[in-house]
Amino acid sequence: MTFDTFLMVDWSGGNDRGAAPKKDAIWVCAARSGTADAPVYLRNRQVAETWIAAFLHSERAAGRRVLAGFDFAFGYPEGFGKALTGSDDPFAVWDWFAARVVDAPDSNNRFDLAGEINARFAGVGPFWGNGLKRDIPDLPRKGLARTDHNMPEKRAAERLAKGAFAVWQLSGAGAVGSQVIMGLPMLARLRDRFAPEVAVWPFESLDQPIAIVEIWPSLIARAVTATQPEGEIKDAHQVMLLAQTLSGLPPRDIAKLLDVPRNAEGWILGLGHKAMLEEAALAQHAPPPLKNDCFAMPQGATWTPVDEALAHLQAQLYGVTLDEVIPLDAATGRFLSEDVTAKRAHPPAPNAAVDGYGFAGPAAAGVNRLKLVDGRAAAGAPYAGVVPEGYAVRILTGANLPTGVDTIVLQEDIRLTAQDISFHGPLKRGANARAAGEDMAAGQIILQQGRKVTPADLGMLASVGIGKIKTRQKLRVGVLSTGDELREVGAAATSAQIYDANRPMLCALAAQWGYDVIDLGRAPDDRARLQGILDDAAVRCDVILTSGGASAGDEDHMSALLEGTGSLALWRIAMKPGRPLAMGLWKGKPVFGLPGNPVAAMVCALVFAWPSLAVLAGGEWRRPQHYLLPAAFEKSKKQGRREYLRARIVDGQVHVFPSEGSGRVSGLSWATGLVELSDTAQKIAPGDLVSFIPYGSFD
Ligand code: AMP
Ligand code: MG
Repeated sequence: MTFDTFLMVDWSGGNDRGAAPKKDAIWVCAARSGTADAPVYLRNRQVAETWIAAFLHSERAAGRRVLAGFDFAFGYPEGFGKALTGSDDPFAVWDWFAARVVDAPDSNNRFDLAGEINARFAGVGPFWGNGLKRDIPDLPRKGLARTDHNMPEKRAAERLAKGAFAVWQLSGAGAVGSQVIMGLPMLARLRDRFAPEVAVWPFESLDQPIAIVEIWPSLIARAVTATQPEGEIKDAHQVMLLAQTLSGLPPRDIAKLLDVPRNAEGWILGLGHKAMLEEAALAQHAPPPLKNDCFAMPQGATWTPVDEALAHLQAQLYGVTLDEVIPLDAATGRFLSEDVTAKRAHPPAPNAAVDGYGFAGPAAAGVNRLKLVDGRAAAGAPYAGVVPEGYAVRILTGANLPTGVDTIVLQEDIRLTAQDISFHGPLKRGANARAAGEDMAAGQIILQQGRKVTPADLGMLASVGIGKIKTRQKLRVGVLSTGDELREVGAAATSAQIYDANRPMLCALAAQWGYDVIDLGRAPDDRARLQGILDDAAVRCDVILTSGGASAGDEDHMSALLEGTGSLALWRIAMKPGRPLAMGLWKGKPVFGLPGNPVAAMVCALVFAWPSLAVLAGGEWRRPQHYLLPAAFEKSKKQGRREYLRARIVDGQVHVFPSEGSGRVSGLSWATGLVELSDTAQKIAPGDLVSFIPYGSFD
């Protein structure tokens, strides 16, 4: 059975919630083919029932098949229906409630009815949670007060659904019992109204154009939290996300969700398929895949300048990872998914910047004498009274200013007696006091989307009450070395073999940049093996860094494979050190094919991969911080290519590694950064200012 429209309803057992959209009200949302309408707020059940009926009518008139989900139990634990109605037919319970529930926007009889039901059962219960002020004889306020009612506490579905509440509980945070009592009569009426077009799952087989099913938005709670926009009401977002997700699933997946044994207790759609649903829900908000030609850059007869290549990357790349909401202690190094707004002012109230005595300023020039009030104002322990004109109060750093105080004189500046203080003025009004919000105002944007979160940011965020932030998930960076000649460091090697130096270096760089590193090992110069490794990497990584095999030599299998996808771009960059960069996409994942030579591999990783990965991870495009410092060396360079020299600072001067040979790995380690020499011809003499980029600038 396939459905065109998915309508999700977040029901409510409470009273009318007013005209303005609020949480814990009724929210509905419809979606078709993975696209959701705007969620609709319905202030009470009467309005909701009319809306739902009208919606179903119009969908049917348009010839569409509808799956309508409601977030409350369609049945009670085994045995209840029979005991209540004498029948095993679950609809007998629906009709029983429909005949007895009296419902109006501001009052209903659910608690009394539950008490009446309890009276028919032995012992105390099964219903509990009288939410009214007045006592109801057979409805206990506490669940523990129940005894011997002989009903199972939960349905089979709730025993499987971690965190689901029992249907017997009528009030308290998270309780669902009231929703069931106030929902079943509405379903019974819909069923009558739309018979014979309706089938209820899993009581009936779903061969009708309207399917009514039980849903539980908590099944996709992780995805809801991860994708909920700031300020959006959760109920609204979760019906939207669930409708969108279900409507986007292929029919065979919907069939899988609906494939449960018929039973009279009811079942929750998606139970047992949480991971699949959650992943599909998260994917609703996944960024679009990179375009296959995103690295295509026209290669002329001349080599491409570094800045042109960087501009291309900046223009083509964007964040590829999903959002997630995480606590502050996990946030360092993450990229913000959205702007962050201060929840409250900092400081929240005017307070003292020093230890001293507070009074109403200003104080005139000359000697000022103020009587002391009893008591003191300390941080976290405010002075409750009013400080009258002519009086001062003992006040400590961080204490809120008491009423009547706006100025503080330092304790070092006063003379103290038992009853008063004296000091020399003048002192301006507001001296040594901090104004409320002088640092940050409530509602002010304090960090912007794309920011890489620093330890200092955590201090600022905590100060304004923000304990969780929405960030991008960590970028997963795969690192692969290629070449038959490579051996793992530590293994035996002939003189014709070399140790894989790039992989430890590139893995460490990616880790330092704050990403999840996936070590993809070494690939031999063998096309089939390399393809297998890339296939696996495309599943586990968001981006792949490879080194070696990036030239057009005989053993250049990386380029050959990327060529086969139609995404290969061989970049010939006007820079030293450097060889061609093989850029491309493997199964949608960007591949940066770096040169094999370790010096070139590292420099190209810093210059090209560092800013690119930051953007893929959800950050802004950045240029590394550089410093103009006097050269301690002499050099003349040609026009037309950029040069990066391994360099270090000694006594404020830039020294470069004696050999520019790109095979000299030792120079990478000797250096503490790079000197960047511009594309133009240059003659550098000692003392000339050159641009030094510390390694630490690539953070
Ligand atoms: P290729 O780019 O594959 O032509 O390699 C260029 C040079 O870098 C050759 O001398 C390779 O042996 C060397 N090379 C390639 N990969 C690595 C690596 N992972 N570690 C150290 N040297 C490498
Ligand atoms: Mg090679």
